[in-house]
Amino acid sequence: MKHYIIPIFIPHLGCRHQCIFCNQQSITGRPTPVTARQVRTMIADRLAAFKQKRQVEVAFYGGSFTALPEAMQNELLAPATEARLQGHIQGIRLSTRPDCINEPIVNNLLERGVTVVELGVQSLDDTVLAAAARGHDCKSVAQAVTLLKKTSLRCGLQFMPGLPGEDWLSLLKTVQRALALSPDFVRIYPAVVIQGTPLAGLYQRGAYQPLSLPQATVRSAYMKLAFERRGIAVIRVGLQASAELDREGTVLAGPYHPAFGELVDAHIFYLMLAGFVEQGIAGCQEHLLIRHHPQDCSKVRGHYNNNIAGLQQAYNIAKITLQAEALVPRATLLFTCGGQDYLLNKNMINSI
Ligand code: SF4
Repeated sequence: MKHYIIPIFIPHLGCRHQCIFCNQQSITGRPTPVTARQVRTMIADRLAAFKQKRQVEVAFYGGSFTALPEAMQNELLAPATEARLQGHIQGIRLSTRPDCINEPIVNNLLERGVTVVELGVQSLDDTVLAAAARGHDCKSVAQAVTLLKKTSLRCGLQFMPGLPGEDWLSLLKTVQRALALSPDFVRIYPAVVIQGTPLAGLYQRGAYQPLSLPQATVRSAYMKLAFERRGIAVIRVGLQASAELDREGTVLAGPYHPAFGELVDAHIFYLMLAGFVEQGIAGCQEHLLIRHHPQDCSKVRGHYNNNIAGLQQAYNIAKITLQAEALVPRATLLFTCGGQDYLLNKNMINSI
């Protein structure tokens, strides 16, 4: 059954801090928060539009939901709670801050039928969190995740590589600490400079340099591989493209790309390709036949065929032939060279 999310944006509702990178009005394209009446109408309209049965979730994004007064949380949740009790939707998810999770809050969410809580974490390095004016530290993340994991709620963490003060070492620390927390899933949104944010001020004064697109691709690919190897789903990489974000003047700088997730997957395929060639197997440089699943075609080739052209050039390979075959599993490559077949998938990449 197809999965569908009814997104409800509550830009900056409940936020006690202005995190330096954040401008939810620009990210969500919605200037004002919704009312409970609007939530009810949105859910009813979307449900009425479905022609087939679907697995539906209502999701509250863009603010600090559990920082709102309890009465207001309950008012906004009520239409979703009712729809879930009536069997029209199967889940309710919301995003919030790690320091706005405690036992009474969690109990209230459970009573209202909430199923998933996403925590905006961004980094697990206290220096980076302080520079981003997050207003919480790593300890509050650990406490919130520990509490959520004792319940039936699923817990997701959102990370933002490339914030001021973060280097590779800091990112490695973040990933190792996140793996230890073992969330149910993560999202990765590399930091971009959005107009109207304090980060834009830093950038314009020359005090902050965002990651380039290739740097953000490599860091996000590392994170994605590290999480997936531990069985932690990575459900989103890169900001969702929108008319608002694509409007000139919204994103001032940084690694925003409408198909960022695809770039990251293509880089992971490049690591597989290069990893195989570097084993120096006989015949590899004369002719390399690479079979892949048909749906991985663009990821194997890379943006503008960069993966294949780059591989050929870097390793001096005379001929590369690509062949799509439905029998090859997704995210797997079947190499043939020197009369032998070799299989490689992304879990076999030795170094990232
Ligand atoms: S990152 Fe989250 S807590 Fe910070 S301002 Fe944006 S919505 Fe509010």
